[in-house]
Amino acid sequence: MTGRIFDIQRFSIHDGPGIRTTVFLKGCPLACLWCQNPEGISPEPQLSYLPEKCIGCGECVKVCPRGALALNRTGKAVLARYYCQPCSRCASVCDAQALELVGRDVSVTEVLEVVLRDRDYYAASGGGITLSGGEPLFQPAFTGALLGAARSKGLHTCLETSGFAEWKELENLLGLVDLFLYDYKETDPQLHERFTGKANKPILENLRRLHERGAKILLRCPMIPEHNARQEHLDGIATLWRELPRLLGVELLPYHRLGRSKLRRFGLQDRMPESVKPPEPETVNGWVKYLAAKGVRVINPIRA
Ligand code: SF4
Ligand code: SF4
Repeated sequence: MTGRIFDIQRFSIHDGPGIRTTVFLKGCPLACLWCQNPEGISPEPQLSYLPEKCIGCGECVKVCPRGALALNRTGKAVLARYYCQPCSRCASVCDAQALELVGRDVSVTEVLEVVLRDRDYYAASGGGITLSGGEPLFQPAFTGALLGAARSKGLHTCLETSGFAEWKELENLLGLVDLFLYDYKETDPQLHERFTGKANKPILENLRRLHERGAKILLRCPMIPEHNARQEHLDGIATLWRELPRLLGVELLPYHRLGRSKLRRFGLQDRMPESVKPPEPETVNGWVKYLAAKGVRVINPIRA
C-alpha cells in the first residue's frame, strides 16, 4: 500500500500529546484562505523554487525537457511554471537545493520505519504518530493502512482532519484513532464556504457522529483576524462545546504567516489581505477568557 506525502516531521510537539512524528499527506478538498500548508492542497507533486538559493550553475536549464527554465541576466534561474510538468529532473541536478519536488509516493512500511525510530521518545512522553496534511481522509485507504500499522506496533495515533469526507471514511477509522484533532473553522455556513471553499454542514454532521460513537476529540480552531476571529464564531464554539459534552477541549490556533512564504516557493497566489496580521497575545488571551467564561476548556492557546 502506498500513499503520497509531502513531509515527515519528527519531534513534533504541537500535533497531539507528547513527542510525535507527524506525517503530512498530500491532497485536500478544502482551500482555506489562511492555509499554512498550501503544498498539501494539490494531490499532485509540485515544484518548489527558491531563487535566493540559486547559484546560477545552469544545470537545471540543460535537463528540463519542457524548456521551462532559463538563466536571467543576473545569472539566476527563472522558472516558467506554465510549461513545467513536474518531473523532478531539474531538482535532481540542483546541488544548491533551490529546486525541489515536493510530494512523493511512499509505502506504509517506509513511513513506519521512520516513525519507529523515535518510539523511545513516544514512550517517555506519551507521544506517537499524527497524520496530517493536506487532509488525510483524501487518501482513506493509505491513512487506514498507516494507522493500522502504527497501532499494531503499539503507537498512540492522532488524526488531524477537517472532517470534510464521507462518513464511511471516518467510521472506518474509529478503531484506529486514539485522538481526533478536529478542525472547526467557521460557524456561519456562508462564511465557511467563502473562507474554505466548502460547506460546514457535512463537517458538523461527521463531528456529531464521531462524538456519538465515543471518539476522543479535541476541537482545533484556527483564529484568523478579519475573518473568523469574531464574537459570533466564539459563541458558535461555545455552543458546540455545550452540545458535545465529551469533547476533550478546544485548542485555539492563532493566525501566523509562515504559510505565506511557502506560497511564493510554489508559485501560488496569496489570497489573504495584507492587512491581516497575527493577533497580539492580549487578543488571544481575550478569546481564551471569553470562551472560558462560557465554560469551554481551552487548551494550549498560544503556539506562535
Ligand atoms: S520539474 Fe521537469 S518540467 Fe518542471 S522545470 Fe523541472 S525539469 Fe522542467
Ligand atoms: S540547478 Fe539550481 S542552482 Fe543551478 S541554475 Fe538551476 S536552480 Fe540555480
